[in-house]
Parts: sequence; C-alpha cells; structure tokens
Amino acid sequence: MNLRDIGEGALIRTIRERFSLSALTPEEGGALAARRVRAGEVHVGIGDDAAVFDLPPGYSAVFCSDLLAENTHFIRYLHPPDSVGYKSIAANVSDVGAMGGIPMHFLISLAAPGDLDFSWIEGFLDGVSRACRDFEVSLLGGDSSSSDRIFADVSIIGRVRSGQSVRRSGAKPGDAIYVTGTLGSSALGLERLKAGKVDDPAIRRHLYPEPRHRPGLAVADRAHAMIDISDGLSTDLTHIAEESRVSARIYKDRLPAAPGVEERHVLHGGEEYELIIIATDLPPTVEGIPVTRVGEIIDSGLENQVFLIDGAQESVLHPKGWQHFR
Ligand SMILES: [Mg+2]
Repeated sequence: MNLRDIGEGALIRTIRERFSLSALTPEEGGALAARRVRAGEVHVGIGDDAAVFDLPPGYSAVFCSDLLAENTHFIRYLHPPDSVGYKSIAANVSDVGAMGGIPMHFLISLAAPGDLDFSWIEGFLDGVSRACRDFEVSLLGGDSSSSDRIFADVSIIGRVRSGQSVRRSGAKPGDAIYVTGTLGSSALGLERLKAGKVDDPAIRRHLYPEPRHRPGLAVADRAHAMIDISDGLSTDLTHIAEESRVSARIYKDRLPAAPGVEERHVLHGGEEYELIIIATDLPPTVEGIPVTRVGEIIDSGLENQVFLIDGAQESVLHPKGWQHFR
C-alpha cells in the first residue's frame, strides 16, 4: 500500500486519530495532553483550520522551524523512518532549549512521493509519537503535499519568561565557555552507518539525539549567551563570537570527546544537539547532564574568531561544520 492508494484524506485521518489530544493513550503522552486540555491551555487541536492555545501570563512565545530534506539530511535506505520523525522534533526542541525556553506544541508539513510505501509514514509517525512522549510536546496540526522526494518541515512553539530569552549576542570578555554532554558521536555514528554498521551507541545517538532543553531552561537565569550545536562546535561557537562581537579561546584537552571519536568529529561534527553555554560560573552537572568548562571569552581583535589552544600552540579554529549551498 503506497501513499497514492491511501490518499490525502486517509493520511490526515490516520494522523488525527493518532495525535488528537483526546485520542492519545497514556503511553503516547495522553496524560500530558489531557492535563493541557483540562488546564484550558489548548482550545483547538488537530482538525480545524488552525490550532488555538493560550500562553500562561508572564510568558512570551518562542517560535522556530527546521526542515529535513531527503538526500540532504537523511538517506532513505540508511535512516529508519522513525529516526527521521524523532529527529525532526528533536532538532526543534533543541532550538527552543537554546533560547532558555520550554517546548510546547508543533506543526508538521510533510511532502512525499505518491509511490512511497505507507509503512514509511507509519514508521515516521512512530518516531514523532516517541518524541512527543520524551520531550512532553504535542502535535497540533500541519499540511501535506506530493513531491519527488521526502521533506519533513516542523515548526514548534514554546514559551519563555518574558524578557528572559537567552540570545547568541550576550557573551562578554571574561565569561567562561561551557559545553553540555559529550561531543563527536553523531558525526561518528553517521560514518559508521554509511560503512554498513547498524547498531552501536554512536549510531543510536545519531539517529535518536537527546536535546538539552531541560539543562537549557535550568541555566536560563545565569547564561549570558547560548546556542545548540547543530552545525558543529567550530561553526556554532563562531556564531556566538560574531553575534556578541568578541573572540573565544577553547582548550583541546578540555573538550568532552565521546568514546572512539576523532578530533574532526569533536571540533566540526554537526547534529550534536548539545548546548554551548556562556556564563560566569556553572556547576559540573545540570539536570543530571555533565557540563564542562572548555575555555573563555576574550576581547576581539580585528575579527570575531575562535582560537584553539593545543599545548603551547594556538591556532584559529575556522568554522568547518555543516553549511548549506556549499
Ligand atoms: Mg540552533
């Protein structure tokens, strides 16, 4: 059975039956959804022209999107469909966390070829469902279209205390640079997947990433600047330096490398979904996640750069992470 046989009407009915707030089972986050409906937060979910919900007083909306394109972000024969569904939500949850926000609701727009087997869609929805449970978020609507390859575009809305979002631009000379978790395993996992391996910790981490929205929220009142590592440490720390008009110095021997990774995975690997947190002082763990001090913010010279210290050597760490259209 492929999408053309099923048709758009049945596709939407399948999603609605599975994700409408009243239809969710406890295992699929039904208890959370029921709480939200009881609390009056969600007034209209899937099935109307648009969704309607409230933000609690004193909060602003934090709002972003992330597009996964087949053959650019995932390869159909390598990445299981539930991983594509899970990652499409995780990437958005990570971005909300990097603002110090709490993720709440999301929309999915899915474009796919008519000859796509419906089991791919069901697998994709399994991953979305698991992400709803793990990240305590709910699907409130979306759209679908036909296309010659698969595109999954997710937009998420969260909340952040008004005036307290953490931006990329707040780093000051003298601040410390922290990184959550470990670095390099997602890039290593992708290489192992391409080499034909199917199951090891790095591959699992690549397929089912763990966004750090809970630590991000916990440090929001102390962080001067924050960004999630989606394009690689070198690229994302350079974003902080440029937006804050400072430079950064990091020490190679302090970087929290995951087991088995190489230097290029640690410095440039994307889709880590760890956080870079700029602050004066953080404890060694936040919300159960290790937080490592890897360097400091320094005054900028002519350019806003990242310097890598390796023993007695100092070099400029050029951004070599993921960049589209290159
Ligand atoms: Mg980001």
